[in-house]
Amino acid sequence: MIQLYIPLNFLGVLYREIKQSLVDLDRMFTLLGREREVADAPDASSLQVAGGTVRFEDVHFAYERGEQHRPILQGVSFEIPAGKTVAVVGPSGAGKSTLARLLYRFYDVAGGRITIDGQDIRAVRQDSLRRAIGIVPQDTVLFNDTVGYNIAYGRPGADAVDVERAARAAHIHDFIAASPKGYETVVGERGLKLSGGEKQRVAIARTLLKNPPVLIFDEATSALDSANERAIQAELRAAAQGRTALVIAHRLSTVVDAHEIVVLEAGRVVERGTHAALLVADGRYARMWRLQQAGQA
Ligand code: ATP
Repeated sequence: MIQLYIPLNFLGVLYREIKQSLVDLDRMFTLLGREREVADAPDASSLQVAGGTVRFEDVHFAYERGEQHRPILQGVSFEIPAGKTVAVVGPSGAGKSTLARLLYRFYDVAGGRITIDGQDIRAVRQDSLRRAIGIVPQDTVLFNDTVGYNIAYGRPGADAVDVERAARAAHIHDFIAASPKGYETVVGERGLKLSGGEKQRVAIARTLLKNPPVLIFDEATSALDSANERAIQAELRAAAQGRTALVIAHRLSTVVDAHEIVVLEAGRVVERGTHAALLVADGRYARMWRLQQAGQA
């Protein structure tokens, strides 16, 4: 019994941690032989992306079910028009990353709906949904494989030229080229150890290669040094060009250029607007901005 319990428990923890980091889990599910939490409807169709407009419509959500559940999202509505960037900001625990997890459909909403070009994401096949969305997660979990494999994972079958082009665009090529075996260098525990910023660049390269119409960027909570942070933000802006982008921002400097900023507090939208409009409104966002500016002074 004990022998059985320990590995299962370990897998449970591993599964939760990985799921939390929004990794594409298809391979992992196969390896672990575990059921997904959400399943395709029997009549699920393939997602048809026209422009890639994303809508959250009165979304409610709690991680736990039943009497004791704690509501995490309580009627969240906003739209990301095709090709635009919407940034979500707010205090820790407000539910920002949860929005990203729901859009990628790691969980189903408890109320309301999320649509892409008018199609409820629960009504489409998950493989088609996940093909349309690229994620740069908070903490990228890389496969214990070569750095080339980790980038090419964005588009199975990609050749070395494509991989290198994506790595250059994500400004990680020079670093890789300087590694002992270049793109054949193994990353991970026993191989090349990458910093948080380097891992994010690998994730950006992977996403550029995948070339999805919808992009989710969940900014790392742990601060990078400011030069690295500015560079990642520039790479992200370039990656978001022409795509519909949901940016989960833990620092306000990331969001200044967003088409709209949504301020989330305790699972509700409390303010929205452009950076300039929110400063004029002199509400919560303006206060957060002043605090952050003061912190940097
Ligand atoms: P931060 O800025 O600190 O990353 P956030 O706004 O992104 O915060 P979320 O990660 O969306 O917040 O979490 C919202 C709430 O949901 C938090 O109170 C968190 O503890 C809770 N939560 C997150 N993941 C789970 C989970 N897997 N099971 C239960 N509760 C969870």
